[in-house]
Formats: sequence, C-alpha cells, structure tokens
Amino acid sequence: MVKPDSMVDGSDWNADILAIVRKYALQNAVEYNGLGQSGSVLGRILGERTDLRNRAIELKKLVSIEVDIANELASKEGVAAARKALEETNPEALNRQKQIKKIGLKELPNAEKGKVVLRFAPNPNGPLTLGHARGVTINSEYANLYDGKVVLRFDDTDSKVKPPIKEAYEWIEEDYKWLTGKKPDVVIKASDRMDMYLQYAEKMLKEGFGYVCRCTAKEFKQLRDNKKECPCRVKTSPENLSDWGLMKDGTLSEGSAVVRVKTSMDLPNPALRDWPALRIQHTLHPMVGDKYKVWPLLDFQSAIEDYEQGVTHIIRGKDLMDSTRKQTLLYAHLGWKYPETLYWGRVKIHEFGSFSTSGMRNDIEEGVYTGWDDPRLPTLRAFQRRGFDSDAMRDFWIDLGLTQKDIAVSLQTIEAFNSSKIDRKCERRTFVRNPELLKIQPEEGGDCLMTPLSINRHPMNSIEGVRVWELNDERIYLEKKDIEKKLIRLKDYADVEIKDSVATIQSYDKLDKRSIAHWLPISMAKKAILTIPKGEEIIIQEGVMENFEISKGSVVQLERVGYAIIESDNDADIIQLLWLHG
Ligand SMILES: [Zn+2]
Repeated sequence: MVKPDSMVDGSDWNADILAIVRKYALQNAVEYNGLGQSGSVLGRILGERTDLRNRAIELKKLVSIEVDIANELASKEGVAAARKALEETNPEALNRQKQIKKIGLKELPNAEKGKVVLRFAPNPNGPLTLGHARGVTINSEYANLYDGKVVLRFDDTDSKVKPPIKEAYEWIEEDYKWLTGKKPDVVIKASDRMDMYLQYAEKMLKEGFGYVCRCTAKEFKQLRDNKKECPCRVKTSPENLSDWGLMKDGTLSEGSAVVRVKTSMDLPNPALRDWPALRIQHTLHPMVGDKYKVWPLLDFQSAIEDYEQGVTHIIRGKDLMDSTRKQTLLYAHLGWKYPETLYWGRVKIHEFGSFSTSGMRNDIEEGVYTGWDDPRLPTLRAFQRRGFDSDAMRDFWIDLGLTQKDIAVSLQTIEAFNSSKIDRKCERRTFVRNPELLKIQPEEGGDCLMTPLSINRHPMNSIEGVRVWELNDERIYLEKKDIEKKLIRLKDYADVEIKDSVATIQSYDKLDKRSIAHWLPISMAKKAILTIPKGEEIIIQEGVMENFEISKGSVVQLERVGYAIIESDNDADIIQLLWLHG
C-alpha cells in the first residue's frame, strides 16, 4: 500500500500533523468498520489541534486521502488490521471513550482533594430516570476525582403534589448502585430530620429574621409585586411564636399561614422578596404519617441540609438560580458560607421528551405500562432490564459535561455510546425472522457437505472460540425475503440457487457478489420471540434463533438485526428476546 508523503496534496504538512490525521483516520475506520468519514475525522483533529482551525480547508484534502487509505485497509485486510496499525502508533486512540472521560468534566472551583462533599437529592416519588442519571453521574464522578463523597438525600417533604412512594427509597439506592457501581457515601431522608428543620424555623422567628404570614397567597403577591410589606412583617417574636404554635398543633388549616424569610421588599427580583420557607401540610406522609403539620419547602429544607452535611459544591440546573439567590439570603442571616454552585442547562432526549415521574406512576397504575421497568419507559430500571451498560450511560453524561447551553439529543447518541462499550463483549447469534423451511441438496452428482460448521463467536475475535453447527438434517430455515432473491450465499457455508422450496448448492466457495443470507439448519434452530419497544408501541417479531449456549440475562448481537437480551430461562421452549438497540 502506498502512503502519501507530506507533499502528496501539495501542502507542507509536518510529520506531527500527518501523524494526527492518520491516527484519527484509522480510529474512525476501526469504529465504523471501514466506513470512516472525513467530516468526523476532521472534527476530531480540530478538537485536538485548535491551532489548525484556520487551515481547515487545506487540511480537508489530506484528511480525505488518509481516510480513504484507512478505510481501504479496514475493508480489504479487515478491521483487525486497521486496529493493529492504530495500536502500533497510538494505542490510546483505541479507546475513545476513555479519552473523552478525561476531558469531559472541568475542574471544580475551590476544591480541595479529600474535602469535597457533593449531593444528589431526588424526590422518592418513583425510581430514577435517565435525567436523574446525569446528577448521579456528574456528582459521583467529581467525588471520584477529588476523593470526596456524595450524599444521597431524599427530598421527601412534599406529600401533596408529588407524594413519596415508600418503596422508592430502596429503588433509588439500587439504581444509584447500578449506575455508579457503589453505594452513596451518606444516605439521609429529609422526613427523618424534620425536628431539626422546625428548630431552625423557630430560631428565625425568635431572632426576628422570619415571621408567620397569615395573608392569602393572592394578598401577599399583590403587596410583594408593589414592593410593599405585608402587615404580618412587623409582628413581635412572641406573636410569631404563638402563631407558630397554632401552625404546628394543627389548629391552622392548610394554606392559612406560612413562615417567611425576611429579605427586602426592594429586591429587584420579586421572587426573592420575603420568600416562603415552611407551610402547613396535613396530608399523610408514607414514612412519618401525621406526626408533622408544618413542613419545610424545598428551598429552606435543602439550604439547611446542605449546611448540616457540609456540602462544598452544589451542581444544579440553571433554572434553579433563584434557589441559590434565596438560599444565599438565608445563609447571610445565619452567618454561613454558601457552597460553590455550578449550573447546567437542560438536556432533552427527543424520544422521552414528555415523560414525568408522576405521569409514569399514573400510567403504570392504569395498566398502560407493565411496571417501572417497562422497556418503553426512560427509567434506569428499564435501561438495566434491556441490557444497557451502566458505564456507557455514565460516559454519555460525562461527555455532555456541565455546559449551561440547553441541548437536545437523540436516544441514538446514548445507544452509540452503548454499542462502543458492549460490542466487544457481545457474542453473535443468528436470528431468522419470518422463517420458512427449505430443503437443501447438492448439485447433481455432487455431495452435500455434512461436516460441522465452525463460526466465530465474535467476528473480530474479541471473544475467542467458535460456535459449532451440526449439519445432520437436510432442512434449513431462511427468511422469506431472502428466499425471493433466488441466488444467495448462505453465510459461512455455500452459494445456493433456490427453486420450489429447494436450495441447491452451487459452490462452497464464494463465486460472485450475490447477497449473503442468514440461515439456520433445523438442528440448530429454536423458536424465539423478539420484543421491540418503539415509542408507545411494542412490536413482536417471531422467528428462530440459533440454539447455541442460550443464557438468561446475556446480551447478544443478533446478526443483521441488532442487540438483544435473553429474558427467558435457559431451558424454556421459546426464547424470549428483548430488543436493546441496532
Ligand atoms: Zn402577611
């Protein structure tokens, strides 16, 4: 093979640049089985060498030459050859995800190794979703980087609008462990710590930086929006404590009083003016029943708890900037230093745009979905059930990093991360959809080769060993649409001509460019059902699967179909497969 020297495209690229171009061209050819693309290679080069961005147009020519060479190597001599060439010069480039991991997260401000405390604070009103996975991943990853710890805090003080589910506490701990591989360093429930929140509220009332407001929400809003104080603001501390007693003992009804934090009625942002900290809530709580009549609102509870847990860094959505501002005003009253705060923008996953935890809960109760692990749902339980790799999911979120930009991505991006993680670990199996039975026979005068076939467990041998097919019967399964092609090659076996439900062997060697069909000898075929979640639908595909080492819970790549997990018991009469992705 002729490699271009630095003058081939007429430019004077130095050896460094040439090496980088070759590295990414080979990497792309390996990742896409000899179908590497110049655009994507150029993108990676300019990501590493920002200094070349003003020479992108010239660089493009060189990239296109090198991409052609790398693709040719991969398709003619095999991806293994391209992989080997890359390994010789740039072994680190073989694992692209690892590289991303290193650059995905920026440094935390004012972080001291061994002293960083982060927190992940879900409402236990359902198990964790794909969106929660971001918080778990980013916080736990920073804890790893700084030898710090993560507090898993259940923010379960709203028993009215988003009531907690008793079982969800455990589900969330399990989901956390699945995603990170370990338990959180600290686990607390806000509902366990109510007495402390109420003591802080009393301190506010005693020391005069909080008051019990008995105006209606509408009255207060009207005053607040006109920068006017409400009449409750000037109450003395004994008056406030007396109203506080009526709130706590259940005398006052829901909505008739709140405790407010005194800020200033002149603040430019109306939401910050004397914001509400605690309210009356008489609904039963799944963990503490009717023990408390007054409950903290999230901004207050979270502010107190971050201090109590020694949280050093808060990572939250940019839509919560007002929470930071409110809490900072409260911290000033208490003489505390507010944690470092970082923000991220929204990430919308196209396929799951409209799901909410409360919505899913309703639909499950109404039987629309079979449970929290229904494969159509964006819960971590559903991803786990389908055979997603938790490292791949972490890589996906780390790659997005902490940008404040709002991002919309497709599920396919996450699936691409997953493919790159699992492909080397997944054995191949044949699955013939809409199978029809054919007789196979030798050409007149010829012999039917009946010796067993040996087929690689993995096409690139990343899993060593072979699958052995016994050929002791004259009947085979083929997909209907392959039969209609008449002249096909049975993969790894022979070229055949099909006529009247009989396949006649023409040659064991590959004669021409006819299309290759996946097939199964009847001795190796077992009935199988593939369940494919597609949006709101469930698609069922029936077929026969290669009956070779069927193991419940393992993810296999069904050749030409996609990845799927085996859900049935090893000795079941019908193999149940659940679709992962293509
Ligand atoms: Zn008032």
